[in-house]
Amino acid sequence: MLGLMQDWPLLCQRIIDHAAACHPNREVVTRSIEGPIHRTNYGEIRKRALKVAQRLDRDGIVLGDRVATLAWNTWRHMELWYGIMGIGAICHTVNPRLFPEQIAWIINHAKGRILCADATFVPLLEKLSGHLEFIERFVILTDRENMPNTSLRGAIAYEDWIDGVDGDFAWKSFDENTAAGLCYTSGTTGNPKGVLYSHRSNVLQSLMTAQADVMGLSCNDTVLPIVPLFHANSWAYVFQAPMVGSKIVFPGAKLDGPSVYELLRDENVTSTAGVPTVWLMLQQHMESENLRLPSLRNLTIGGAAPPPTMIEGFQRMGIAARQGWGMTEMGPVGSIGYLKPPFEGLTGAEKLAQLSSQGFAPFLVEMKITDDFGAKLPRDGKAFGRLKVRGPSVAKGYFGLNDQVLDEEGYFDTGDVATIDEHAYMRITDRSKDVIKSGGEWISSIEIENVAAAHPSVQEVAVIAVPHPKWGERPLLVVQTKPGAEASKSTILAYLEGKIAKWWMPDDVVMDTIPHTATGKVRKSELRERYRNHQLPSVSASSRPLSDGETSKSGRANLHS
Ligand code: ADP
Repeated sequence: MLGLMQDWPLLCQRIIDHAAACHPNREVVTRSIEGPIHRTNYGEIRKRALKVAQRLDRDGIVLGDRVATLAWNTWRHMELWYGIMGIGAICHTVNPRLFPEQIAWIINHAKGRILCADATFVPLLEKLSGHLEFIERFVILTDRENMPNTSLRGAIAYEDWIDGVDGDFAWKSFDENTAAGLCYTSGTTGNPKGVLYSHRSNVLQSLMTAQADVMGLSCNDTVLPIVPLFHANSWAYVFQAPMVGSKIVFPGAKLDGPSVYELLRDENVTSTAGVPTVWLMLQQHMESENLRLPSLRNLTIGGAAPPPTMIEGFQRMGIAARQGWGMTEMGPVGSIGYLKPPFEGLTGAEKLAQLSSQGFAPFLVEMKITDDFGAKLPRDGKAFGRLKVRGPSVAKGYFGLNDQVLDEEGYFDTGDVATIDEHAYMRITDRSKDVIKSGGEWISSIEIENVAAAHPSVQEVAVIAVPHPKWGERPLLVVQTKPGAEASKSTILAYLEGKIAKWWMPDDVVMDTIPHTATGKVRKSELRERYRNHQLPSVSASSRPLSDGETSKSGRANLHS
């Protein structure tokens, strides 16, 4: 027997309808690409999103068509999300920080018909447009006054584009499992893969993230999503904030410490979220100028493991910082490092240790860890293995690929290696491709990094595996010092001594600049390439394994001389 409740599909446009009905005057503030601060509200956003929908409909965009965006976090970008999704088209957010060839590859793979881009990307698109075979027209996210001269096909200023319709339009209705958004993973290995969110997964993800113990937003909050709309579904901020009626502040293109600080202060932001690289810049700025942010009650750090010193540094400034873990394939939130009983009263080092875990899964996410053969490992906080997840906002496949990505229990392999303890707290020890296998045992690069990052002269660190003839791989510690600070290899090693297991001690320390990916994470693949032939002091030249293409005098690769 079926229940006698209304059949009400979970569609994204219902979120902005709700915000316009219950919180119409709640502000959406943007540091615009043109420069000045722009102010609008949910009532206006809905009206203009309906115009986007009407315009797309008039331009012949139909259910399932892809409309691409290449844009920073602004009110116009938010209007596009709802306008595109509201007619059943798919909002394909493209990351402008990727290499130009990757941008073209992704847009072509998705076969987008319209591309909406910030004016700053016009020169890039002019170079790429010959390769963007499916794009019929370019909409530039600005007004006539700021519209650049361009040869792009059918180029039109966004404001003129939506002014071409009257807004007398109704959202389309369709099944809640209809695709809503498309977001490609960064493709550090192989080509990027498209994650295809549905309306249902987005609505459920927003209900999940808005919970008190997850992002915990309310109608009294002002939220500043540093996380871009083009990365991992904007961590659902474009949905969860209007869903509860929080004021939103968009930072536009400026993510440096002083610009972010200014917005947080001037708009009395209470909650914010982003990757460690951005928080590092903010923290340094605040420390050097001795600044405070009295309104900010919570700051979420995600996308990569934050060093505990970062969480501690914010705590010293009176800001409750905690970390979130997740991934594009999860919509993206998977866990939050929130203190639950019996840990809620912890202080000092114990509190920091607990906050350094990646936290526990909220309702709608299930986790397990397994060995390489799929056998479940115990939740004892010690056994570590492949972290697998399932739930209604976890991907079951990739756009345009037929790969089978779920195990027989319906779990998706995250590619992370983790422990889970008896309180359900999960700790990432590594990404599986970053683990260091020394003498058959795994060394956690993240744990070494967390300790090394606390050295007073250190700005950022990365631990990578380098080949070793006896142990297979050994850890190399790459250190970027703070501007003006100095640190020697011996002082860094002395600092680590006793804080990590002896056999985890890095075999060498090098001073270098740490490279980042398009999503602000440490680009370990580049470091591994850079130090592929690095000679560890523990390995004499004669016993060094030969690199690809290098031959011994006898002409054969000599692995053990
Ligand atoms: P990509 O980096 O591949 O573009 P994602 O942003 O989806 O795509 O990255 C997800 C990955 O980021 C996770 O699988 C995990 O390795 C890493 N990650 C995210 N949050 C954290 C965290 N709090 N601690 C450690 N690693 C994290």
